[in-house]
Amino acid sequence: MQENKTLFERFFEFAPDAIVVVDSKGRIVRINAAAETMFGYSRYELLERAIEVLVPERFRERHVEYRNEYFSNPRPRSLGKGLNLSGERRDGSEFSVDIMLSPLETSEGTLVISIVRDITERRRMEEELRRAHDELEIRVKERTAELAKANDALKDYAAALEEANRIKDLFTDIMHHDLLNPLGAIRLMTELQLEKTAGDETSRGLLMIKRNVDKLIEMIRSAGMYAKLESAEKLERSKLDLNSILRAVTESFKLRMEEKNMRLEYLAKDECYARVNPIIEDVFSNLLDNAIKYSPAGSKIEVNIMDENKYCKTYVRDWGYGIKDDDKVKLFTRFQRVDKKGVKGTGLGLAIVKRIMTLHGGRVWVEDNPEGGSVFYVEVPKS
Ligand code: ADP
Repeated sequence: MQENKTLFERFFEFAPDAIVVVDSKGRIVRINAAAETMFGYSRYELLERAIEVLVPERFRERHVEYRNEYFSNPRPRSLGKGLNLSGERRDGSEFSVDIMLSPLETSEGTLVISIVRDITERRRMEEELRRAHDELEIRVKERTAELAKANDALKDYAAALEEANRIKDLFTDIMHHDLLNPLGAIRLMTELQLEKTAGDETSRGLLMIKRNVDKLIEMIRSAGMYAKLESAEKLERSKLDLNSILRAVTESFKLRMEEKNMRLEYLAKDECYARVNPIIEDVFSNLLDNAIKYSPAGSKIEVNIMDENKYCKTYVRDWGYGIKDDDKVKLFTRFQRVDKKGVKGTGLGLAIVKRIMTLHGGRVWVEDNPEGGSVFYVEVPKS
């Protein structure tokens, strides 16, 4: 029994939590080693003293009230959560505590066992967590505001873009109707005058006017076409035989080729069906037009369509001036005229070709003709 008693006393003494036992008058009757360390007192300094000595001064009055109330109905209780309790060390410093109370009936009356835990570290971490959370909340709010601002800017930008497109369309329409008509009239008048003045001194000037008017008309037509294709998102397509289209386009160039004494070899024999818009004609005529423009008189042009698995692949091969490697990609961008060789042009033809091909899900590229000159390829997915 005696041995048990000392064993229990040692449990009490060396328990890891601070334990303070108080009588019904609030006097400290026992404390253990952990409590001595926690509060910085030796037990002899505390015994018989009111428990409030371990409470910061500003809370002492309330503590006495609480203690009296507790002793009128003592029961196990856990204090601390949400209460933010503090203890005071001998040196006057404060620290956060959690307290568990448990009454103990003895022959000397009711005692209360208080187990005190230093939760400074836990509080610090909670505080840090709260601060991090607050900071995060502020940052989320800032980002949300920024995002809303960016969204507004984007809406403004979209509206401006729409307006710019509207103006562009308007401008394209003006170019077409209000410029092409008078230009057509000038051209006609010039031609009539030319007939009258055939051979004399003024005809040189008139010829120059006609050439420039032709160039303007060509430029306006191409620019209008490019603008339309640029804003188009898709083209209406139907199943058509590319061979027949290419043959018809080639026919229309016969006269020009004869004028330049050029020879055409049309190799395509079989049909090749693809889902295309009739505008594909412009692709072929642009490539043929260039092949004629950028080749010397008397040279040859070869045209073919090959049915390649998933694609109809067309090529226009010339034995002309050829294209430098550096220029091979550039010339598909608008207004890029590379080696002009004194040939008139708008620099829009191949940009139009590329746009039409893109709208068909196809592609266009150029390679060297090993015998001198170039080969332009276009590839359209088969239907
Ligand atoms: P352009 O109106 O100048 O002909 P394109 O867009 O059709 O405009 O062609 C762009 C440039 O590519 C031309 O200025 C020319 O320098 C070059 N080019 C196009 N086709 C050929 C070709 N078959 N052979 C050599 N150069 C070519």
